[in-house]
Amino acid sequence: MTPTRLAATLTAGTLVLAGLAGLTASTAAIAQRTAEPPRQLAAQTDDHTAQPTKKYATAVGFGGAVASVDADATNIGVSVLRRGGNAVDAAVATAAALGVTEPYSAGVGGGGYFVYYSAKDRKVYTIDGRETAPATMPEDAFLNPATPGKPYTFFPDLVTSGVSVGIPGTLATWDAALHSWGSLSLGKALKPAADLADRGFVIDQTFRNQTLDNKARFSAITPTAALYLPNGDAPVVGSVFKNKDLAKTYELLGKKGPSAFYTGPLAQEIATVVQTPPKAPGATLPVMPGHLTTADLAKYKVIKQAPTKVSYDGLDVYGMAPSSSGGTTVGEALNILAPLKLSTQSTPQALHSYLEASALAFADRGKYVGDPAFVDVPQKELLSKGFGAERSCLIDPAKAAVKPLQPGSPDGSYSGCPAGIAHEDKADTEGLSTTHLVAADKWGNIVSYTLTIEQTGGSGILVPGRGFLLNNELTDFTAIPDPADPNRIQPNKRPRSSMSPTIVLKNGKPFLALGSPGGSTIITTVLQTLTNRLDRGMTLPDAIAAPRASQRNTANVTAEPPFIDAYGTALKPYGHTLVPAGDALTSAAEIGAVAALEVLPHGGYLAAAEPKRRGGGAAGTVDQLWPN
Ligand code: GLU
Repeated sequence: MTPTRLAATLTAGTLVLAGLAGLTASTAAIAQRTAEPPRQLAAQTDDHTAQPTKKYATAVGFGGAVASVDADATNIGVSVLRRGGNAVDAAVATAAALGVTEPYSAGVGGGGYFVYYSAKDRKVYTIDGRETAPATMPEDAFLNPATPGKPYTFFPDLVTSGVSVGIPGTLATWDAALHSWGSLSLGKALKPAADLADRGFVIDQTFRNQTLDNKARFSAITPTAALYLPNGDAPVVGSVFKNKDLAKTYELLGKKGPSAFYTGPLAQEIATVVQTPPKAPGATLPVMPGHLTTADLAKYKVIKQAPTKVSYDGLDVYGMAPSSSGGTTVGEALNILAPLKLSTQSTPQALHSYLEASALAFADRGKYVGDPAFVDVPQKELLSKGFGAERSCLIDPAKAAVKPLQPGSPDGSYSGCPAGIAHEDKADTEGLSTTHLVAADKWGNIVSYTLTIEQTGGSGILVPGRGFLLNNELTDFTAIPDPADPNRIQPNKRPRSSMSPTIVLKNGKPFLALGSPGGSTIITTVLQTLTNRLDRGMTLPDAIAAPRASQRNTANVTAEPPFIDAYGTALKPYGHTLVPAGDALTSAAEIGAVAALEVLPHGGYLAAAEPKRRGGGAAGTVDQLWPN
């Protein structure tokens, strides 16, 4: 775009927004700041001619909105809304498209958590579509007989194995959501994604990097290498990638429904590939066989359950109850922060409060939260104001406490400032993959949905001829059996998750919806984004773009390098040790990838995705005022 045209676009966008009755000044300011030419998704590095789909990290408009990490997926969601679909239809269509374009993070081989605000009922509902351990999974399944009492090497051995594969819940989630609140059939909701898989999408740098990060794992499994490492290399940036097998799978599931996944030939193929993973000749990875059977698949059920709820500064914050620890941990941290009134604190003080509250809430998560079908989770007390206040008073305003902190006693009796009780916190091994999307419609229904196959690339096991990867979600269990651990392996149990799809209501009406990938950093990313928006005066796009840090009850705080640059000096006197995010497995030193939306006055929506992380996300609205 030429500078003149850019200036004209910016002015027009700002004027439209500023002139729109009821839209706030801050929205116009967002438009001004974020007005920029459409980003090129991917450089053309060879002679391919395909053009990547245009995308915008922020969009403002009416009639509904979608935000996700991917332009094709967001566009599919917005088209479903334009054709009269509702937020649930759009969310399922967007999620199915992410299964095509983000196959290492999401798809029918995984699970997730769906949070829904129904405008008609003025109520928030949730679906727990978490993967579940097979009925015959031994409690010591992750212990290596060659090293008594010690688990298999976590990465890549345990992760890349049949033993890590849980019963997938994603298709059942889509079906349950559509049946309960959607207007489209499963077939119609899956059709755009099936077409996308069939015609292909343009590979970007993130996809190529993620494939290369997984090269050793993928090449150990024959069907996975054949799809994602054709000729031994990851697909080239700018090339068109088709997944005809996945297109056919979506068509089959659309026609026949979930029974074609959970029973019949496909279920048999899933069980077979888990029990006898197709190891490539010469592969050195063990690729251990797993325990999943057709009987496990046949009995899988999603759980419809009440959301978690806390009030924070006059707002109602709804999240996902266990088996995810997202809702209880974000909610408890907000209760810990409430008495401190972050909006009155300086930036370093507010960040110190945020880090300390996160550590306290994580200490309680470790001791008390697991699958409620197996563990008596004191959810009500964890989310009580009394418990939050009792934990809050442990925060020294001048000094970071020595970590790990001990958990508190959510026992209903709260007074004084008791130190925690003895507990050994277990190391966190959650992956850093996953994806989040939000969708809203013209009726005011809102979806906040996080879905995953756990590690980027999941178990690495592709179901031959079906075009999708299976999860390694069971590695979210603690590997070493300990009767005191709420997250130990047990047959038929759901591993504790950190996924935190969140919806915030103001005066009983939707205000915000957000979520993120990032393993256990999901919780801190959602919390930090909320406090940025609610307490620190940032617009939603700024709250998302702001550099992140994550304190999960460990000695050091994991932080993005820009966070260290911006706040390292100011946080030093408090005693926080900031270490750069990122590990040997991923190319990026980033934390999370938020997708969010804010409801503006008069039915307007601001949809917001990451401007940079994971290559930048995509936001869109139905009647788009800006950018247009
Ligand atoms: N398995 C993780 C969880 O359920 C999510 C993984 C991720 O976000 O990368 O919390």
